[in-house]
Amino acid sequence: MDVDFLIDRELAIQDAIRDVEARIREGHDTIKPPGQLDGTEGRLSRQDSLMRHEMDKAGLRSMEQSLEALKEARLRIDRGTYGRCLQCGREISKDRLLLIPAAECCTDCLSS
Ligand SMILES: [Zn+2]
Repeated sequence: MDVDFLIDRELAIQDAIRDVEARIREGHDTIKPPGQLDGTEGRLSRQDSLMRHEMDKAGLRSMEQSLEALKEARLRIDRGTYGRCLQCGREISKDRLLLIPAAECCTDCLSS
């Protein structure tokens, strides 16, 4: 794996971390507890808002997971193991790393 490519991926990962962190902060700000509804809300809209709340939380969780994955990828760059499949140890293709900077395994392991 050449240095230029690694630097490029490191920058992409840094950017993505900042982006996801901002979205998580935003998400925490906008998600309100489902109980906070005024008396004019009917039963249906209450269920609706509960469901939306669950979806928001799920979205937030998945963003937090991708943040973790990005931070792991940054650690692998520091350790010099970035770009290696965590399962089989082979190099992950550049195309895949360009598409998913935090990719942990190669397409072979992904499909098996
Ligand atoms: Zn693999």
